[in-house]
Order: sequence, then C-alpha cells, then structure tokens
Amino acid sequence: MFVLVLASTAAGAYTANPVAPRCGDVIHVSGEAVAVRMNGRTVPLFAGSGPARVGLMPVPLEEKPGKYPLEFLGTDGRVAGAVEITVREPHYPKQNIVIGKEKKELRPSPGETETVRAFRETVSATRYWEEPLVLPVRGCMTSPFGVARLHNGQPTGSYHRGIDQRGATGTPVRATAAGIVKIARMFNLHGGTIGIDHGQGLTSMYLHLSRLAAEEGARVEKGAVVGYVGTTGFSTAPHLHWALYAHGVSVSPLQWVQLKPCAAPVRAKKKKR
Ligand SMILES: [Zn+2]
Repeated sequence: MFVLVLASTAAGAYTANPVAPRCGDVIHVSGEAVAVRMNGRTVPLFAGSGPARVGLMPVPLEEKPGKYPLEFLGTDGRVAGAVEITVREPHYPKQNIVIGKEKKELRPSPGETETVRAFRETVSATRYWEEPLVLPVRGCMTSPFGVARLHNGQPTGSYHRGIDQRGATGTPVRATAAGIVKIARMFNLHGGTIGIDHGQGLTSMYLHLSRLAAEEGARVEKGAVVGYVGTTGFSTAPHLHWALYAHGVSVSPLQWVQLKPCAAPVRAKKKKR
C-alpha cells in the first residue's frame, strides 16, 4: 500500500512515502530542500527530474515505534517543512540456527569488517538504480529480513539484516539494480562477496558466493550476473544472502521486491512396524 502526503507551504511541497513505515523500511522523500532529518539522522537530497530534490530516509530496525517529525532542511540548515511519520512495530519473528564448531571459530579476514562497513556507508551523487529492483535469484525465501537470530538456542542480540533465498551452488546471482561494483572479494566470514553502489545512498550486497563474476570498479546493469550461489564463509548450506542498505542502514528488500517464503518442510511420517 502506498500513502502519499502533500504538505503544501509557501516554499513548496514536501512529500514522504510511506508516512507509516515499519522498522526496516525506507521513506522516499521529495521536496525543495538539501537534506532531511528524522530522529537524529540526517541524509542528503539529490537533484530529481523537477525542482524538488529526492532522497531515501531509512528507518533502522532498532527505531522505537512512534511518531517522529521528518524535517526538510534548507541550505541555511533551517527547517523548511516537515511531514509527520508514524513508525510502526514490524513484528519480525525469531529463528534458531544450528552452528557447528568449525563455523563458530571463523574469524574475519584482515580488513574484512572495515571494508564492508566503509562500503555500506558509500553515498555517491550519481543515481544508477531505478525501480522496480529485480530478484538476484528466483528461489523462494528461506529466511526473511529482521528475524531475531538465535545461534544454537542462544539469543545473539542481532537481527537478520538481509534475506536468504534458496539456490543450488552455481546458480547465477544477478544485480538487483545497476551500479558500480565496490567489493568483489572472497572473505572468511561473508564468503564470496559482491557489493554494489547503486548511487544516492542505496547499496546492495550478495554473500556466500561460490564464485565471483564481476570486478571491483566495473559498472553493471540491472540483472547482470555478478556471481554464483555458494556456501562460503559463515553459512551452513548453499543459499543466497543478499541485503540492501540506505545510507549505511540495513533495510528490508521486501519493501522493494516480491518474494514468497518457502513452504514449511514436510515432516516424514513415522513408519509403522
Ligand atoms: Zn542470511
């Protein structure tokens, strides 16, 4: 469902969509301003097709549900307009994962953590992405975004910051949108990793790949094959984990693409003896 609110003032119109996002969603904003601010986070706006500038305000998974003003800031830093946002409780489920000793002892490659963090924070002015985004693989979803993860029954305090899709090793993985490849590396934890900068604050990552099919610095089009499904790094079976980030904040791909969860596994009937 899309909700559009127009707040007309002397300075122009300020729009936010949706105005009632869930934690993990992105708010598409537009207005004659240079930046927007919400709950202490400020993100830049970029030139759009008209006089209004456009941008993406992420709502982090950890955001407290409630009402927040989304403020549009002018060149002088003053608030030029505002839209009221109601952040809704997302009701994400919990999931336990059984992890063997060998995986538990995995440590990041030298520079892995820093490289990934710096990549996610990438904000470049050129916009390569356009909607709709495409699914990197066709497989059903084995684990949705935002699930509170338990490892061997123990809460980890972390959330699943991406989605998992079923895929056999070697299945081609496609770029969800056009962009510039910033990471094409085999890491210890993330495994075979592709990171793409889609511009204007939107980035995507594809993990646990068995093979990479793109080089760092390359420009890729939407749907281009950038790697192949695998189970490298911190992964227990072949699948594709992919993630979207808006201004470094992990956001739900399910706001952008439609994806069906895999059917629950059919339990084998107990044989009668
Ligand atoms: Zn995953």
